Amino acid sequence: MKVLVAVKRVVDANVQVRVKADNSGVELANVKMAINPFCEIAIEEAIRLKEAGQASEVIVVSAGDDACQEQLRTALALGADRAIQVATDAELQPLAVAKLLNQIATREEAGLIIMGKQSIDGDNNQTGQMLAALAGMPQGTFASEVKIEGDEVLVTREVDGGLQQVGLKLPAVITTDLRLNEPRYASLPNIMKAKRKPLESVTPDELGVDVAPRLTTVEVNNPPARAAGQMVGSVAELVEKLKTEAGVL
Ligand code: AMP
Repeated sequence: MKVLVAVKRVVDANVQVRVKADNSGVELANVKMAINPFCEIAIEEAIRLKEAGQASEVIVVSAGDDACQEQLRTALALGADRAIQVATDAELQPLAVAKLLNQIATREEAGLIIMGKQSIDGDNNQTGQMLAALAGMPQGTFASEVKIEGDEVLVTREVDGGLQQVGLKLPAVITTDLRLNEPRYASLPNIMKAKRKPLESVTPDELGVDVAPRLTTVEVNNPPARAAGQMVGSVAELVEKLKTEAGVL
């Protein structure tokens, strides 16, 4: 079974993002970029399936400009076998990415698609669900455990009320939650080996997908600054302040 993993290049989680001076978006010039943390978890899960003999090949896919090849090489160093870049300079929205991934999944006859539950830049949490709908595949979102059993995958999902288990007929789409696994680091020899692993580029045109944005960003602003907190000496003082100053009691 081939496992396809969708990998997005995003601003590194440790970077304090800054809004551009013209409020058109977030400043990306000279900012450290990385694999979206939920996609790292997706890569790790796919590699574990391969190590357990349940996946024959792990293929990583990223859609974006040539810079995303850096993240694909990192995924190859972590243990993926092969990479595909869907090369485009266009601003990609979740529906466009889902259409591109659908084409790649069909072309590769993927048995399982693992992706992050959300990208930490747009916080969209949409692409996996859209892909499942387009591909007509069952979906297990927010996965905290994944087990392959015959022609099914059992997924434990993190939902509001606790944990939910679903059994999905393969091929299926899984999106990862934080507790699914702890991603490994790439070793130096594997970083060297990754340079020789195959990385193919295709364009949205070659896949027959129109990636033109459907949504317009009106303006991007910083959230309002939070007022400083206050230390109180006792519960009675806290209650008094909630009554008289905050007016919430
Ligand atoms: P989102 O719906 O944008 O929150 O993204 C959810 C997941 O979709 C990500 O964690 C990735 O696995 C996948 N994804 C989103 N954008 C891309 C992209 N440009 N290239 C590859 N995968 C992507």
